[in-house]
Amino acid sequence: MRSTQKLPRQIPATEVQRLELTDLAPGRYRFRLALAEDATSQRVCVPVQVVKGHAPGPVVGITAALHGNEVNGLPVIHRLFRRLHASELAGTVVGVGPLNVPGYLRNKREFSDGKDLNRVFPGSPTGNESSVYAHAIVERLLRNFDVLFDLHTASFGRSNSLYIRADMTQAQTAHLARVIRPQIIVHNRADGTLRAAAEHLGIHALTVEIGNPQRAQETLVLSSSVGLREALEHLGMTKSDEESPQAETVECSHSYWLYTDGGGLLEVFPHLTERVARGQPVAQLLNEWGEVHRVYEAPEDGIVIGKATNPVASSGARILHLGVVGSVPERAQPPRDSAPC
Ligand SMILES: [Zn+2]
Repeated sequence: MRSTQKLPRQIPATEVQRLELTDLAPGRYRFRLALAEDATSQRVCVPVQVVKGHAPGPVVGITAALHGNEVNGLPVIHRLFRRLHASELAGTVVGVGPLNVPGYLRNKREFSDGKDLNRVFPGSPTGNESSVYAHAIVERLLRNFDVLFDLHTASFGRSNSLYIRADMTQAQTAHLARVIRPQIIVHNRADGTLRAAAEHLGIHALTVEIGNPQRAQETLVLSSSVGLREALEHLGMTKSDEESPQAETVECSHSYWLYTDGGGLLEVFPHLTERVARGQPVAQLLNEWGEVHRVYEAPEDGIVIGKATNPVASSGARILHLGVVGSVPERAQPPRDSAPC
C-alpha cells in the first residue's frame, strides 16, 4: 500500500564511529552510531538523537531495547525528544534505541549470537559477538553519560508494572528514582548489566521497567516520559510543565521470583501492584484434566511487581515477582571513578 500522507522533512542523520559531544554546538542532532559489522560487511548502526542545550549541565543518556523485543522505551524516547528544545535545556540529553539492533530486527530479546546482551557487560574487544558489541556500547557511547536511564520491559510470557531497579543506597540515584514516581522501586545491584557497567564508571544508573514486551503501551509510555521529564527537571536541565500522573511509589528493599515445583496450566491470582499477605494463595496449577493439583501461597507479605502471563508451565516456571516492601539506608556518593571499565 502506498502512503498518501505528505511527511515532514526529516533531519539527516550522520554516521559516526563514536559519540563525541564535547565539541558539538548547542542544537539537535541525529547520528547513526556504528558498533559492529554484520556478516555482509555492513556496519550495524544504532540510532542516537541528541539535544544539546545552550546552557551547561549534565549529560543524560536514555537507552531502549537493549533486549531487542522490549520496545516500550522507544516511543518514550520519541515523545520526550519532541518536547526538548536546545534553547530551554541545560546540559545534553541523548536518546538511543533500539540499542540491540540485531535482536530488534528479529523480534528477539537476545543478541544475534543468542546471548543475553544485558549479562555480558562490560564486554571485551577480543570476546565473542555479544561481548564485542557490549564493549563498543561502553567505549563509544556510555562514557559520555553522567546519568543513565536504561528502559526495559518484562520478558516474553510475563507482564510488569512500571518499576525501577536501582542501587538505592546511592543518595542521588535514589532521589532520581523517586522523582520519576514509578509504581514500585526495588533496590537491586546486578552484575553484567549495562547499569552495572555504568555504575562502575561512576554514572548514576537506573533500570526502568515499562510493562510488557513487543508492545507499545500508551499509558505506561506517557507515565514514563513524564517521569523522565521530572528527572530532567530535578537535575536542573528543564522546566517541567506536566504533573506526574502516578500514584504513590512503593519502595522494596529486595525482590525475588516464585517458581512452580510442578507442571500444568498456571493461573496467577493477584494483579500487578497488588499487595499480598503471607499465606495468601497466589497461584494454582491445573493438571491435564483441568483439576487443581498445586496451590501456591505467598511466602511473606509483599507486592506483585511482575507475573507470568503464559499459562503453559513446566516444573520451575515463573509464577510472580514478589517485592518485599521496605527501604535501604542511603550512603554518600563516592567520587566519580574514571578508571577504564
Ligand atoms: Zn530487558
